[in-house]
Amino acid sequence: MCSGWFWSERGFIFCAGPRAWLALPGKGDCFMAIKSYRILNLLPCVSGGKKLRVVAAFDQEIGDLLPYFNAVLERATYDHVRGTLTTCCYGRPVILSSRHVVIGQLTYPGLAEEILEVLKDFLNRVLEQKDKIAPIYEAKIDPIWQQIFISLPRTNCAACGEQTCMAFALKLWSGEQLPEHCSALEQPEMGKIQALLDEINDPLLP
Ligand code: SF4
Repeated sequence: MCSGWFWSERGFIFCAGPRAWLALPGKGDCFMAIKSYRILNLLPCVSGGKKLRVVAAFDQEIGDLLPYFNAVLERATYDHVRGTLTTCCYGRPVILSSRHVVIGQLTYPGLAEEILEVLKDFLNRVLEQKDKIAPIYEAKIDPIWQQIFISLPRTNCAACGEQTCMAFALKLWSGEQLPEHCSALEQPEMGKIQALLDEINDPLLP
């Protein structure tokens, strides 16, 4: 099951879903630096099916804040070179960069707005607490992504269309690839990877 947002040992809160979020104490009333977002594109999800992918933008750039998000989110992959932080919200992969937010695996368009509202609240909470958070600038890899990667054949044969198994693992994680596209993947690794993907994608919303 996706574990949602963590503020673990370093932080202040744990949010497993909208109800937990609303129950949090101490939410500031007057400091809401990010006020809005715009949905720029609604596209078919690259993993196929009827799922959707949304590209959106907040009303300000968030690149400088990514190391702070990296510090408070346990389930995240942070690429300090590309300036992206990949995590999940309600079981959907979310990629944050300075100017854009990409949300994948959406089952209906309204879910993007629900997730963007949660993200906006989360980003504002980080802004509020920024002085108390030690930013982490180093790259970080989500442990589930790591487990997916080590379950792949790791021959970098490129038969799946990706240059490396590492790239394929990242796309599996973010819902842009499917395990069956790796022709060298056999059981029990196939089952293990599917179970890991189910863990990411298990929705928190009813
Ligand atoms: S087909 Fe499988 S083994 Fe080959 S590069 Fe892709 S993930 Fe790696």
